[in-house]
Amino acid sequence: MAEVARVQSALLEWYARQARDLPWRRTRDPYAILVAEVMLQQTQVDRVIPKWHAWLQRFPSLADLAQATRADAIRAWQGLGYNLRAVRLHAIACQAVAEYGGELPRTVPELMALKGIGRYTAGAVACFAYEQPVAMVDTNVRRVLSRVFEVEPSDVEKLADQVVPPAAGYAWNQALMDLGATLCRAKRPLCLVCPLLAECGGPRPSARTKPAAGAFQGSRRFLRGRILDALRHHERIALVDFGEPEIVERMAAEGLVEISFDGYARLAL
Ligand code: SF4
Repeated sequence: MAEVARVQSALLEWYARQARDLPWRRTRDPYAILVAEVMLQQTQVDRVIPKWHAWLQRFPSLADLAQATRADAIRAWQGLGYNLRAVRLHAIACQAVAEYGGELPRTVPELMALKGIGRYTAGAVACFAYEQPVAMVDTNVRRVLSRVFEVEPSDVEKLADQVVPPAAGYAWNQALMDLGATLCRAKRPLCLVCPLLAECGGPRPSARTKPAAGAFQGSRRFLRGRILDALRHHERIALVDFGEPEIVERMAAEGLVEISFDGYARLAL
């Protein structure tokens, strides 16, 4: 099993350099974080960003949301889909106003006592708003932790709480999410450029790809030349646009090109 302290320091160092700049990472307002988490549950980040700003402008606080009608909330949710989430948020706001004076409580059990908040969302609010070192496990985090520490996905919850660094829970959880969303993808994880490559016990299909012999070597050289030509003419190219992304990954491992955390290749600077 990977050594926890080394995984922690490699991942935190990567996050310090590569963290995605997301607007909800610039606030510690529990309500704003709750809204982001609920929106992100079934909607992609780039679609959530404008909706998150618009929602907070329309309902700046839990009290504002609780004063609105459920129909207002559903209307404001338009364009995000899965509208029951708007109903849940409205119900949470009403309960928080009735029972907590318009604030969200700080602990996971108290947050889970609010109808509509599950363990994951409770962990996100406790950690991202109140900086408590608690774990939260969604699909991406489950995949990353089960690969890195070689445990069954069904056993990740137990492990997740044990590996949160007590002094850096916020960055750790955000980093796990970033890694799962960008490099440690379900299909074709970008292991060769992953900060956990040396520690991780999980798959690295590209790294395991053995150089082929004979004529294929020629075609591999040809492809490498074409890739470099393309990158000379374009500032960056999405990895998914290459027919042979594992060749680009290998070139990144060799220092010829760089692959950004969001999956774009460019010539190494
Ligand atoms: S080395 Fe590969 S499997 Fe392991 S965490 Fe990184 S991307 Fe995921």
